[in-house]
Amino acid sequence: MTSHPTHLHPVSLDRLRTAPAHAGEAPPDRLGRAMRDLRISVTDRCNFRCSYCMPRDQFGRDHAFLPREALLRFEEITQIARVFAGLGVRKIRLTGGEPLLRKNLPDLVAMLAEIPDVELTLTTNGALLARHARALREAGLRRVTVSLDALDDAVFRQMNDMDFPVADVLAGIDAAAAEGLGPVKVNAVIRRGLNDGQILPLVRHFRNSGHILRFIEYMDVGSTNGWRLDDVLPAQAILDHIHAVHPLQALEPGYGGEVAERWRYADGAGEIGVIASVTRAFCRDCTRMRLSPEGRLFTCLFASQGYDLREHLRAGDSPAQLAGRIAAIWAARSDRYSELRSEATPGTRRIEMSYIGG
Ligand code: SAM
Ligand code: SF4
Ligand code: SF4
Repeated sequence: MTSHPTHLHPVSLDRLRTAPAHAGEAPPDRLGRAMRDLRISVTDRCNFRCSYCMPRDQFGRDHAFLPREALLRFEEITQIARVFAGLGVRKIRLTGGEPLLRKNLPDLVAMLAEIPDVELTLTTNGALLARHARALREAGLRRVTVSLDALDDAVFRQMNDMDFPVADVLAGIDAAAAEGLGPVKVNAVIRRGLNDGQILPLVRHFRNSGHILRFIEYMDVGSTNGWRLDDVLPAQAILDHIHAVHPLQALEPGYGGEVAERWRYADGAGEIGVIASVTRAFCRDCTRMRLSPEGRLFTCLFASQGYDLREHLRAGDSPAQLAGRIAAIWAARSDRYSELRSEATPGTRRIEMSYIGG
């Protein structure tokens, strides 16, 4: 049986047990970065088995996913999200695993949508999106990001390794756009030799669509995907490839801390982006905190340890006390894994992307 990342020992909050109650924005972390984003993973389960994220041989039938009672309840997620908003978070992204597998997700969206001054978004593999787009929009969701790594049906089925047809995801993107959840961002992870032949088909499909296609460098998240630097197709190579056919012009970042580098087609056919997490690391602008499905906080995508917030929530911490703990965790943060990647120890055990949500 594959061991679950929760078997990693979470950092004890003992040293933070005396964290004083806190009001107002969280102080910057040790590298001067403000806390502005929260990614909430609502489940560690997924209906896909993308080889770069949940390879089937590691996430098989006997894989120990979190039991339902371990998951944070919607009321608990909302309580925590409100504390984060008070600390300065302005953007909340729901993710997973596959977030649309979490039962009654629109109920959670409705609860989170009531938090003032926070933009609420969702990242999904899109397979179930056509079915849920309306309920999500009615609950108050404003935008979605859909992951789509290939346009060719055979390649797509191979990528998700569950024989899901690409037509379902394309229908999901259309449904989301029709509901006003746009512009839809479409994220494609490119793994050299696997789906690099899909770059131009994806470009052709999404030019003039109003959706924003973004190519993501394949990252060494988790410990199960057998990542090798040779498998990474650098963002610059992706851009050069596209530029040779459809000339591109650089755009300014949309906001501080944006991870995607933005480009526009010179002929006015729309916008695309690249997320160069490996070759042009952006840790110095990293304003993100991550909450796992059972209430652990992670200050970096590449962390191996989390802080158990659920324990304190269930022990009756007040919002001000929770704020004190979170502010202390953020203030102590000095993560910059991607900038240090070249020095990283191979084989280090890390949390899985399917657990923490990208
Ligand atoms: N299941 C949803 C989905 O696929 O959109 C949400 C969770 S998924 C972990 C979030 C994002 O992480 C997806 O866009 C996925 O492509 C990306 N991702 C997963 N593993 C990755 C890897 N090794 N390198 C780069 N991106 C990865
Ligand atoms: Fe599932 Fe998303 Fe991971 Fe693919 S990337 S296995 S869809 S969680
Ligand atoms: Fe942020 Fe860690 Fe990614 Fe750097 S490696 S951008 S610190 S999550």
